Parts: sequence; structure tokens; C-alpha cells
Amino acid sequence: MKIIVCIKQVPDTNEVKIDPVKGTLIREGVPSILNPDDKAALEEALRVKDQHPDTHITVMTMGPPQAEEVLIEGVAMGADEGILLSDRAFSGADTWATSNTLAKAIEKIGRYDIIFCGRQAIDGDTAQVGPQIGERLGIPQVSYVEKFYLEEGKIRVHRALEDGYEVIEGQSPILLTTIKELNEARYPSIPGIMRAYREDCIKVWTYEDLDIPSTDIGLDGSPTQVKRSFTPEQKGAGEMLEGTTDEKVGSLVQKLQEKNLI
Ligand SMILES: Cc1cc2nc3c(=O)[nH]c(=O)nc-3n(C[C@H](O)[C@H](O)[C@H](O)COP(=O)(O)OP(=O)(O)OC[C@H]3O[C@@H](n4cnc5c(N)ncnc54)[C@H](O)[C@@H]3O)c2cc1C
Repeated sequence: MKIIVCIKQVPDTNEVKIDPVKGTLIREGVPSILNPDDKAALEEALRVKDQHPDTHITVMTMGPPQAEEVLIEGVAMGADEGILLSDRAFSGADTWATSNTLAKAIEKIGRYDIIFCGRQAIDGDTAQVGPQIGERLGIPQVSYVEKFYLEEGKIRVHRALEDGYEVIEGQSPILLTTIKELNEARYPSIPGIMRAYREDCIKVWTYEDLDIPSTDIGLDGSPTQVKRSFTPEQKGAGEMLEGTTDEKVGSLVQKLQEKNLI
């Protein structure tokens, strides 16, 4: 079985700061991590490999040269190889151009059975890239995977809903986007770390390596334009209601009535 896991390096914070002039993310001084949903995606792929040792796992990321760090982490956790898509031509990509680029790279890899993506990156936060890759490749996809089973070649997943889950069965090739609640990811192992640094298991692909027009990638291939970014104004401090539950509910109702809200 061949599995590709798309992983993204993100700032280690939910409080993404935005440059008020350029409208872009400020990454300087913010430590980077492997996006949590993507870690769950990789862990699930590794569990397949635990059961079926002939499974080959490729971790792939598009980003600046330092995004190689998440590929090293992925290999140290147990992936077989990493592919870094890095080129100035890819920069400034919105989700459209990002998924174009990732899909082209996946096509270049050729055969695959499962593509795992995280549901959502904690910085961009759109949850669009996984489904867009599935559409571009013309393969079935299931998002919000909270449980994954592989039995006799059949893939069965639980797809999280607000108040329950759907059970969906499918066959490869398939794209799945995972949520971090899917599993508890393992730590990188010492042999894995040594392999990641000693062996030549990370490849770098540039624009020249992909058969893709320059109008489909980077800023030129991005129909989304950020018009304005801003940090919402701080509202007044919240008020804590004291007392028993009944007293707190009574006091809340009174306050809402005073403001003619109920
Ligand atoms: C006009 C514009 C300009 C932008 N310029 C920049 C910029 O210069 N630099 C920048 O970093 N961001 C930039 N962004 C943000 C960038 O487009 C998004 O971060 C990117 O498209 C992914 O979207 P997302 O973070 O919402 O991912 P989501 O759709 O939330 O991610 C879902 C999943 O897709 C996969 N995935 C997403 N992105 C990647 C990736 N790069 N590599 C591998 N897998 C991935 C992961 O599995 C992830 O969990 C820009 C956005 C816009 C609109």
C-alpha cells in the first residue's frame, strides 16, 4: 500500500499575528510545529504500516526551505520519505494554488492508495486544501475522519458530525482529511531521528520538477486577494456571575432583560 500524507508547518500558536501593513502572517519569532490535524493523519498512516509493514509512506509539504523540519519529524516518526515543494514561484499561494501544486506533485509520484490530509491548518484555517486536492485528482474523499479502519482492502471511516458520526466505506484511491481527535500521535524514535538526518530520505522538488503552468501556482495562480486584515478590537472585560446555578441563571436573565435582549 502507498500512502501520501500532506503535512504543513504552522506557527505554534492559535493567536496568529498579522502584519497590519502587508496583511500577511508574521512568522518571525514564532516557533513552528507540525499542524496538529496533520500529525493525526501521519499517525494513522503509521498505524497502517504497523499492521502492513510493506506500506510505503511519503510525507509531503509545500513551503519555504525551513519547512523541511516537519518532513524530518515525519520521517523520524516512521515515514519512509519526505518531499519538500519549495520554490519562490510557489510563494504567496492561496488554497487554490496550494492544492494545485500539491495535486501535481502527487500526480508525479504516480501510484497511491490513500492520501491523508489534516482537516484544517491552524494558521490558514480554511479546511479547503484537502478537498481541493481530491477534486483535482478526481478521487473520492471523506473529510472530518475521526475513526479509520482498513479491513480486507476496504476502508471504513467515521466522519465526525456535530452530534454524531457517519459511517462511510470506500476503496482506494481515496483522500481522507483527519481531525486531531483521531488518535494520540507517537513521538519520533531515536532510530527514526538518526535515519532522518543520516539517510537521504528528503527530496526537494522545485517548479522545474512539476509539469504545471506558472499561472496555476503561487501569487499568480491565486484568485483570493486579501483586501484587509485586522485584529478585532478588544471588548470590555467579561463579568463573572457569583452564587448557585439558580442564582447565576436568575442574574443572567435579569441582565438580559435590562438590555431588552429577551
Ligand atoms: C492571497 C493570499 C496570499 C497568501 N500568501 C501566503 C504566503 O505568502 N505564505 C504562506 O505561508 N501562506 C500564505 N497564504 C496562506 C496560504 O494560502 C494557506 O496557508 C494555504 O493555502 C493553505 O491553506 P490553509 O492554511 O487554510 O490550509 P487548510 O486548507 O486549512 O489545510 C488543510 C490541510 O491541507 C494540507 N495542507 C495545507 N497547506 C499545505 C501545505 N502548504 N503543504 C502540505 N499540506 C498542506 C494539510 O494536510 C492541512 O491540514 C496566503 C493566502 C492568501 C489568500
